[in-house]
Amino acid sequence: MHIEVEETAVGPVRLFRINTGSCNGCDVELAVTSAVTEFDVEQLGCRYTESAHEADIVLITGPLTIRARDEVLRLYAQAPRDKVTVAVGVCPVSGGVFRDSYAVDGPIERHLPVDVNIPGCPPRPQALLAGIGAALEIRRARRDREEPARNPDHRKHHGTDNFPARGRMSYDAKACVDCRMCRHVCAAGAIRFEAGDGGVRLTLWHNSCVFCGLCSHYCPTGALSVTGDWRLDHRAADAFTQIERGEVPYAPCTGCGEAIIPTAPQLLHAAFRRPNPEIEKLKNLCPACRQLMSIGVPRR
Ligand code: SF4
Ligand code: SF4
Repeated sequence: MHIEVEETAVGPVRLFRINTGSCNGCDVELAVTSAVTEFDVEQLGCRYTESAHEADIVLITGPLTIRARDEVLRLYAQAPRDKVTVAVGVCPVSGGVFRDSYAVDGPIERHLPVDVNIPGCPPRPQALLAGIGAALEIRRARRDREEPARNPDHRKHHGTDNFPARGRMSYDAKACVDCRMCRHVCAAGAIRFEAGDGGVRLTLWHNSCVFCGLCSHYCPTGALSVTGDWRLDHRAADAFTQIERGEVPYAPCTGCGEAIIPTAPQLLHAAFRRPNPEIEKLKNLCPACRQLMSIGVPRR
């Protein structure tokens, strides 16, 4: 395993944590990076410090509550000017499930510059090490006055992948029937639909997704599924590229030619087990033509 260890002239790179009002989920995972050997930040040449004045890298957790805001900004200002700032978890990145709360004044980027995002709820320790690795790379590049690499390759070097855990969602547009149940159950507001000329487009934003898996649970066709992929850290400037996207194409109604989303075979199978040819015909009809065919009465 290759590990690039970073040290300053006066010792290890110092990490300083600021909790802006989090549920402590991310903070517990950060504790793993100092308490569990396999994920210890010391393998990156880093160490946690209790003093903001010493911070080389600032790790921010939580959705920034109004109550904590002034103290957070005061503490952040104490850190050296050349610090690298990392948003840990979806709360500082986008607000997560708290984004519309009256008690929150996030996302944190509204108040201070963020260099690296580590989405997740909470991000697992491998993701934290990868994100800290990305912060070290930015720090090194700034010191050498270079442009930091866009896709750091150190993500794969830390920890183990051989235990099940929730990670990014995956979307298969071919199985989707545009029922929008996923958007209905997503408390994080991570899913959006847009009607285009050729079909309906679903966009899932990884920077808001809390890995709850409810969209996958309620999706009637299995178009959405939970993966174990934790590789979600990215430079904050690339935040809007962190998406899962697909388009469900329109097809003409076989009755009147109107553009519709045909019923997916998975749905027919779930509803009728073995659909007969009559039911098969219905799947390519718009609601009005379906009514005509079924009961001979057109839609009003
Ligand atoms: S992904 Fe699943 S739940 Fe969402 S619109 Fe498509 S079929 Fe419905
Ligand atoms: S897993 Fe699905 S329902 Fe849960 S936050 Fe992510 S997109 Fe929303």
